[in-house]
Amino acid sequence: MFCTILGGGVSGLSTGIRLLERGLEVRLVAEKMSPETVSDTAAAWWYPFLVEPLIKTNRWSSESFREFIRLMEQEGLEFITMRMGREYLKQPCRSPGWSESIDHFRILEEHEVVDGYSFGWEIEAPVIEMAHYMPWLKSRFKSLGGTIETRKLSSFNELESELIVNCSGLGAREICQDEEVVPVRGQVVYIRQDPGFGRYDQRPESLIYTIPRRDVTVLGGTAQKGDWTMEIREDDEEYILKKCESLWPELDRSNIVGRAVGLRPSRTEVRLEKEHVGDKVIVHNYGHGGAGVTLSWGCAGEVARLMGR
Ligand SMILES: Cc1cc2nc3c(=O)[nH]c(=O)nc-3n(C[C@H](O)[C@H](O)[C@H](O)COP(=O)(O)OP(=O)(O)OC[C@H]3O[C@@H](n4cnc5c(N)ncnc54)[C@H](O)[C@@H]3O)c2cc1C
Repeated sequence: MFCTILGGGVSGLSTGIRLLERGLEVRLVAEKMSPETVSDTAAAWWYPFLVEPLIKTNRWSSESFREFIRLMEQEGLEFITMRMGREYLKQPCRSPGWSESIDHFRILEEHEVVDGYSFGWEIEAPVIEMAHYMPWLKSRFKSLGGTIETRKLSSFNELESELIVNCSGLGAREICQDEEVVPVRGQVVYIRQDPGFGRYDQRPESLIYTIPRRDVTVLGGTAQKGDWTMEIREDDEEYILKKCESLWPELDRSNIVGRAVGLRPSRTEVRLEKEHVGDKVIVHNYGHGGAGVTLSWGCAGEVARLMGR
């Protein structure tokens, strides 16, 4: 069976790899590949953030969690590392649905909660360094026999293929006329300083994170809905730094080494379903918002299951 994947971000490449592993012949068509996709900007900490519907995203994120551990332990990918992180909350609440599927989840002791908060939890989860991971995905895809064509598509009819997987992210606004997909702008700062463990307040209205990689820590963030601006804004940077300093007072601004902006492909709910259009079958897999990396392998597996693989 032959299929075409539209999109070369983390969703398209992960899905392509799963389908190749399950015996399909796969061609990927994308306007942009790494390092020019949104996926390249992802921070990228495993955490189901800004994404619905919870009942499915909890399952997909758990599946990805297990796959990241496998890639780390069995395939030796050194650019995926397990890191401790503490999420601080204003009020006590029930543990998130996904907490049962990960090995380390605990509610913080009162003395561990920082000023201004009253509750929190600690988890250990994968941090994925996208500058290394995206090229690895691409080379894995090719080594399994996948082919890549770089061009922009205006309509699915431009593809001869009868079986298409749509992983076009924000591009789905145009190609499917889906106005439910909107950009949620994220600006980040890179600092060469390790906070030890990540510190988070991921309520959309505050959105603070410090995600430690091996070389830099990613500081965020912003979640500006409907904002298409790709330029770095100085006032956003000041806002991010002030927020991060509130959770990490030792942050030293003289260690800042870079910044970036990306537009999350946000949607009321992830669209992962099969659609029949004329003589074509399209499996949609887009709208992963702030959790495309977190959901990537779970969604790839779901696409394969929808295709009976
Ligand atoms: C600042 C920031 C921090 C983030 N942090 C995290 C995090 O910590 N954890 C996490 O899980 N996620 C995080 N995310 C979210 C994550 O980056 C996205 O959810 C994910 O990258 C979406 O991947 P995708 O493959 O669906 O889309 P994209 O990476 O946008 O890829 C879309 C692909 O489709 C192609 N395309 C679109 N339209 C067309 C067309 N008409 N013709 C041809 N090709 C087309 C594009 O060229 C591209 O190749 C973050 C995002 C940002 C911006």
